[in-house]
Amino acid sequence: MTIKTIGIIGSGQMGNGIAHVAAQSGYSVILMDKNDKALDKALTTVTKNLDRQVKKGKITEAEKKKTLKNITPTNKMKALAKCDLVIEAATENEDIKRIIFKELDGILQKSGIIASNTSSISITRLAACTTRPENFIGMHFMNPVPMMKLVEVIRGLATSDATYQSIKKAAEKMGKIVATSEDVPGFIVNRLLLPMLNEAAYCLQNGVADVESLDTAMKLGAGHPMGPLTLADMIGLDTCVAIMRVLHAELGDSKYRPCPLLVKYVDAGWLGRKSGRGFYDYSSEVPVPSKLLKAA
Ligand code: NAD
Repeated sequence: MTIKTIGIIGSGQMGNGIAHVAAQSGYSVILMDKNDKALDKALTTVTKNLDRQVKKGKITEAEKKKTLKNITPTNKMKALAKCDLVIEAATENEDIKRIIFKELDGILQKSGIIASNTSSISITRLAACTTRPENFIGMHFMNPVPMMKLVEVIRGLATSDATYQSIKKAAEKMGKIVATSEDVPGFIVNRLLLPMLNEAAYCLQNGVADVESLDTAMKLGAGHPMGPLTLADMIGLDTCVAIMRVLHAELGDSKYRPCPLLVKYVDAGWLGRKSGRGFYDYSSEVPVPSKLLKAA
């Protein structure tokens, strides 16, 4: 099927990035969030990121305006009824996603494809709470979406070839490169990445090194563009814990247990960049390491 209109559910870090690249690629985008403040913040962020692209000479002012015009914000699920594709990018919590998919399935036109941007939850299981598992797929963008080239595409057990091909085409139209993963916990990227970030939290908890040394070591010693604690803050520590819990529960290996220090930061509301504090404190221009909350 030809995809022209894309709905996005959840306008947080990922939702606003997906809206940006989809609108810039010529899709008509309906961006939905239940929280009006999150919608306002998303539009401000997209505008700021487009301004940066204009300043760098990557797009023109006219292209910026056209992109913004392609995005319609809403707090109502029923505004998504006529979409050809809806990409869900709400909080990484299976109960929340199930409620969303049940409601969406009831209002979305029958030919509409549903994709989840989940980082770790089974696509087959999420698809099973809809009446259209053949039109359900995983479409996992990377953060920050406008910069990162990869989209992991994950077929559930029942996903049709037609759905897979439509999503691959849509991802490519957005300028992305597709890697296809089996439907396993964490898929490819998070199966490899999250255990490393979790281990960095263990290193901090166990006094191996301080925040800056851990990040510097992996940047300069392993050639990573940013250190693991900076990256965990960027992903969101709540999302990191949620992914580790899925890996731990579903792969059943104790090596995936979430680091207690990471859990404690989340309990304290230290979620990383999005809440202003995580392993680093972002209240001043240059982030500084946060006071260490000792693990229980
Ligand atoms: P976030 O916390 O920044 O945003 C989540 C948004 O979902 C919030 O704005 C919230 O208001 C909204 N939301 C929650 N329940 C809702 C509902 N019932 N209806 C509509 N909106 C609802 O989270 P995020 O980092 O953007 O992550 C979103 C999804 O993308 C998660 O599944 C996450 O695992 C995945 N993901 C995250 C990253 C990352 O680096 N953060 C990377 C790839 C994929």
